[in-house]
Amino acid sequence: MEKEKVNNSRDLYIGIGSNLSNPILQLNKAIKFLSQLDKLNDIKSSSFYESPPMGPSDQNNYLNTAVMFKSSESPEDILKLLKDIEFSMGRKKSSVKWSERIIDLDIILYGDLTYESEFLTIPHMYAHERAFVLFPILDINPDIFIPNKGFAKDLVKNCLYKNIKKIEK
Ligand code: AMP
Repeated sequence: MEKEKVNNSRDLYIGIGSNLSNPILQLNKAIKFLSQLDKLNDIKSSSFYESPPMGPSDQNNYLNTAVMFKSSESPEDILKLLKDIEFSMGRKKSSVKWSERIIDLDIILYGDLTYESEFLTIPHMYAHERAFVLFPILDINPDIFIPNKGFAKDLVKNCLYKNIKKIEK
């Protein structure tokens, strides 16, 4: 599929999760990597949240956060950058869905862009229904709108995985 060219700069929201090897440290490390991609040096970050795993229950709780910065990179290039960061932070491939991970980086939203390819769906296909995604992006922008889904502040009322608590960074 042909790459979509993004000419204008848009607000890029990235979700970050970890449940291995001192997750607070891992989230802070990932934010540092992402700050280096933010050419305008205006990265915004949310609080950190802890919630039980949504997959196999024999794993640690997850910590999640989100960052936002302006970008004009193509969606596929952003995905590649995120995969590179995951790899350099020691992310291992697993065949088990929702298994434990040292770091997970997802494109949650990219302004009002909707994008679909073999490898990438924007907005992230489950963002609108997960508390551990909605709480962090609401911290950054209480009026954030998820294209085709609605305002996050409305979606959060009926979302899944609401057993979530804010923690110290
Ligand atoms: P994950 O298990 O979260 O690392 O994601 C597995 C795969 O989901 C990635 O390798 C991507 O190809 C795909 N994917 C689809 N949509 C997205 C998105 N919005 N952000 C990140 N990955 C995505």
